[in-house]
Amino acid sequence: MAEPVFRRLCIIGIGLIGSSIARLARAQGDIAGVVVATDANAEHLERARELALADVVEADAARAVAGCDAVLLAVPVGAIGPVMQRIAPHLAPGCIVTDTGSTKGSVVRDIAPHLPQGVHLVPGHPMAGTEFSGPDAGFAELFRGRFCILTPPEGTDPAATGRVAELWRRAGSMVETMDVATHDKVVAIVSHLPHLIAFTICSTADDLAQETREAVLKFAASGFRDFTRIASSDVDMWRDVFLNNREAVLEMLARFTEDSQALGRAIRWGERDFIEDRIKRGRKIRRSLIERKQA
Ligand code: NAP
Repeated sequence: MAEPVFRRLCIIGIGLIGSSIARLARAQGDIAGVVVATDANAEHLERARELALADVVEADAARAVAGCDAVLLAVPVGAIGPVMQRIAPHLAPGCIVTDTGSTKGSVVRDIAPHLPQGVHLVPGHPMAGTEFSGPDAGFAELFRGRFCILTPPEGTDPAATGRVAELWRRAGSMVETMDVATHDKVVAIVSHLPHLIAFTICSTADDLAQETREAVLKFAASGFRDFTRIASSDVDMWRDVFLNNREAVLEMLARFTEDSQALGRAIRWGERDFIEDRIKRGRKIRRSLIERKQA
């Protein structure tokens, strides 16, 4: 078996993503020699012990990171700054701090001021997830065949970036590197806007008069059902994503609003070609996703 990428890895936030990495690290043995888990939620910590997700389960984040050569933050993006502030004085020299947050501009903004000299920052975002959360929701195969985007700030030690990339490759992911602004725009369109639309459609359906809402739920086995799956995602995580990728989300929403109004106008005026073109473009995108094995 290959040498573990890290000697001692601390995972902060043992929810869906954190516990998936922990399961993987424990199962494979080539990611970390020792896995330490910590979380602000006492029930989740207890569950991490019961499920044997880590070699060491520690309630105090500052004690958990001591002596680690890597710390992975898998908490909602709004919690990353406060967590970093708490652990910073306890990080070992040469330690690599990475994360899994869905927004990257905010993560760099919130971590950088607390980063001690000699500690490396390699932000990351596994493009994999489900609508479930907490330690029971994780599974080791979550990242297999999916992309993981790294956004190392300029001047980051390439060796540190290389080790984080190796973690994700061993998790079965394809690793890409990009700048934070590109990342935040891309995820705004592929992930944040679809969630915004799903939350909105469900609220609109919920606002309908009682009688109509009953019919919506009864006959939901059409397009609506797919939106309800996305809309059942974690509240804290998604509130933080919208608040921390505000500019990119608002930009995509403005474009989407314009484009959906254009389709509405075409429907009003019976513009068949325009309507057909929109539907064909949807089918084309779906086909290319299938060809890229990302469907
Ligand atoms: P999750 O299942 O809710 O897990 C997050 C864990 O962190 C929970 O146990 C949570 O406890 C804990 N936590 C919250 N604040 C904390 C703090 N200040 N200190 C320590 N622990 C804290 O969420 P997740 O889905 O794994 O998401 C984790 C991160 O990965 C987020 O930044 C998210 O944006 C990103 N991500 C998520 C997905 C996805 O599809 N879910 C995909 C890619 C990336 P409580 O439950 O008590 O708050």
